[in-house]
Amino acid sequence: MADSTITVKCCIAGGGPAGMMLGFLLARAGVDVVVLEKHADFFRDFRGDTVHPSTLELMSELGLIDAFLKLPHQKVETLTGQVGAERLKMADFRHLPTRCKFIALMPQWDFLNFLAEQAKRYKTFHLRMNTEATDLVEESGSIIGLHAKTPSGTPTIRADLVVGCDGRHSTVREKAGLKSDDYGAPMDVLWFRMSRKGSDSADTFGHIEAGRLMVMLDRGDYWQCPMSFRRVGSRA
Ligand SMILES: Cc1cc2nc3c(=O)[nH]c(=O)nc-3n(C[C@H](O)[C@H](O)[C@H](O)COP(=O)(O)OP(=O)(O)OC[C@H]3O[C@@H](n4cnc5c(N)ncnc54)[C@H](O)[C@@H]3O)c2cc1C
Repeated sequence: MADSTITVKCCIAGGGPAGMMLGFLLARAGVDVVVLEKHADFFRDFRGDTVHPSTLELMSELGLIDAFLKLPHQKVETLTGQVGAERLKMADFRHLPTRCKFIALMPQWDFLNFLAEQAKRYKTFHLRMNTEATDLVEESGSIIGLHAKTPSGTPTIRADLVVGCDGRHSTVREKAGLKSDDYGAPMDVLWFRMSRKGSDSADTFGHIEAGRLMVMLDRGDYWQCPMSFRRVGSRA
C-alpha cells in the first residue's frame, strides 16, 4: 500500500472484537470495507478469554457456531465462588434459552483470527495488518478518510464512512475532537498464570473477600487468574 490512496465505502480503524465484527458484518452485507490494525497479529494475552452465551448465540445466528466450536476451548457451565468461608454456586448457564448454555474459554486472538478467516470469504472485505491510523482526512468540514502509517509508507484511505474501533486510547476519537467520560475505577486487576495440575478441580472459581476478588479460569494446562486490588489513592 506504500504511499498510495485507496478508496472504499467504509474504513474501520482497529481490528479488535468491535472492528473485526463490524468488518465481517459489512462485508457480509456486500459493503466494500477495510479494517486497519496497527499490530502485525492479534496476539494479546489477558484480553478476554470468556466468550459468553450471548456472543455464542450471535455466532449461531450468523451460521458460524459449528466452525467456531471446532477451535480449542473449555466449556464453563457453572461458576462457583467462595465468599469468606462459604462456598456457593454463583451461576448456572444450563438454564439459559440459548443454543450454547455455557461460556467458552478461548483466547481473544483465536476469536479474532477466526473472524478474519470468515470475513475473508467475502471479496469486499480487506484487512490491513501493521497499518496504524494516524489522522483523519477532512474536506469541506466532512471526514472523508484516514491517514495511516505502515512499515513501508503512509497510505491514505478515502471512505464514505470512517469508524473508530481503535480501543480505549482511540486516535480517531481524539482527532475528531470527541470526548469520552471517565467514570474512574476504584480498583486495578493483576492478571497472571498458574500451572494447573490434572488433579485440580475443573471449576471456574471466584474467591471473594471484603474489597478483594480473585478468579481462576481453567485454560487446560494452566489457570488464568485476575486478582483485583484497590487502586493506590482510592478511598472506595
Ligand atoms: C485484562 C482484560 C481482560 C478481559 N477479559 C475479558 C473476558 O474474559 N471476556 C470479555 O468478553 N471481555 C474481556 N475483556 C474486555 C475485552 O477485551 C474488550 O471489551 C474488547 O477487547 C474491546 O474490543 P474493542 O474492539 O472495542 O477494542 P480493543 O480490543 O481495544 O481493540 C482495539 C484494536 O485497535 C487497534 N488499534 C489501536 N489504535 C489503532 C490505530 N491508531 N490504528 C489501527 N489500529 C489501532 C489495537 O491494536 C486493537 O487491536 C477484557 C479486557 C481486559 C483489558
